[in-house]
Amino acid sequence: MVQTADAVVVGGGVIGASTAFHLASLGLKRVVVCERRWPAAGASGKSGALVRMHYTNEPEARLARASLPYFHDWDERVGAGACGFLQTGMVRIVSPENVANLRANVEMLERVGVDTQIVGPRELRELAPDWRVDDVTAAAYEPTSGCADPVGTTYGFLTRAEQLGAELRPRTEVTAIRMDGARVGGVETATGAISAPIVVVAGGAWGIPLLRSVGVDVDLQPVRIQVSLFRRPSALAPIHPICIDGINDMWLRPEGPNWASTLVGFSQREPLADPDTLDEGVDADYVPQARERLARRIPGTADAPMRGGWAGAITATVDGKPVLDQHPEAAGLFFFVGDNGSSFKTAPAIGRALAEWAIQGQPEVVDTRPFRASRFAEGDLLIGPHEYNDRDYDAGRARKLMVG
Ligand SMILES: Cc1cc2nc3c(=O)[nH]c(=O)nc-3n(C[C@H](O)[C@H](O)[C@H](O)COP(=O)(O)OP(=O)(O)OC[C@H]3O[C@@H](n4cnc5c(N)ncnc54)[C@H](O)[C@@H]3O)c2cc1C
Repeated sequence: MVQTADAVVVGGGVIGASTAFHLASLGLKRVVVCERRWPAAGASGKSGALVRMHYTNEPEARLARASLPYFHDWDERVGAGACGFLQTGMVRIVSPENVANLRANVEMLERVGVDTQIVGPRELRELAPDWRVDDVTAAAYEPTSGCADPVGTTYGFLTRAEQLGAELRPRTEVTAIRMDGARVGGVETATGAISAPIVVVAGGAWGIPLLRSVGVDVDLQPVRIQVSLFRRPSALAPIHPICIDGINDMWLRPEGPNWASTLVGFSQREPLADPDTLDEGVDADYVPQARERLARRIPGTADAPMRGGWAGAITATVDGKPVLDQHPEAAGLFFFVGDNGSSFKTAPAIGRALAEWAIQGQPEVVDTRPFRASRFAEGDLLIGPHEYNDRDYDAGRARKLMVG
């Protein structure tokens, strides 16, 4: 027997969870979330969950700006579970050659409504007394940014969606998308078909075959990325801001009990032929490299004990920016893919945009056109005018990660 729903969401990561929450909040009664494994089984469960607004392109900055209030006011806006947001402030360090770009980006971000400012080594020393700052000419600082619990955020969105009537189906793989003339008609799963006028695919690296099956032919590359966790010596300050350090090509956040550890990620992206073969553990040789980089910024961590590490799969695109779109030939079919390792913080606004588009006919929270899938064929890539090219989602580096 074919079951029916008002909407099916494919994927129980943070994007699918946020979308389900927003669909249910906007009044859809029967939202079914199909997840082939379990909530946060993919990139979301492995995320560093840095929550900042510093982007070098305005459309993503707008997504991040619209998402921040969810982390600050989780109880009022979502009302279930906990996103675990910690307001540490955010420091974006760039190399001296990128200082002019930094200034231009901070101006753009201020225009977007981001609370940000340029700081020099003196202010930085006050913000982070244990950091080495003599290599820094200027950095951007965001006092209202911080970091969150990515699994708690995903569970919270899903729990509230369920309270509003949605149904989560773990271990339920969507094997095909059904069409109904020029509209989407629903999905096929191993446990039967679900008929629905709205389908949102948010399957991350694992969802690529499903998108290919409906003709989404954007270049998408699953990539393995790693992180490692170190306990800071107790002589160091009890906490520090989150940081994207373009000089040392890494990011940092406080983590663990009492925030006494630091989670470190540096660029070392490995293309994955099949995300199901992902090794979720951290490589032995990643750990000393992560510690060495961490110690370049926080010298007191040179002998910090390693407390763990892991790896996750993200999806790269040629311009390093995500794809958020409606299928051009299947009304009611929407998708998000190509997170480029940077779509946790923007998940609240992405899910809201998808839900508004599906229910009201257009997204209101942000203009999603810069994220359209056709931009690649049109040669109109989403590239900020002042990218630093010190992170893998900057277009100059993103292209090199694509295989074939
Ligand atoms: C190590 C690491 C660090 C990161 N750090 C940050 C950070 O600091 N800040 C930030 O903003 N972002 C960060 N990210 C990126 C962020 O985590 C991702 O962009 C985000 O989690 C993507 O969420 P998603 O829901 O699109 O994908 P996923 O979390 O991968 O969820 C997709 C889900 O869909 C399911 N699925 C796929 N196909 C099907 C199907 N056919 N049927 C049913 N279910 C299906 C999968 O099982 C999976 O659970 C990081 C990522 C990693 C791995």
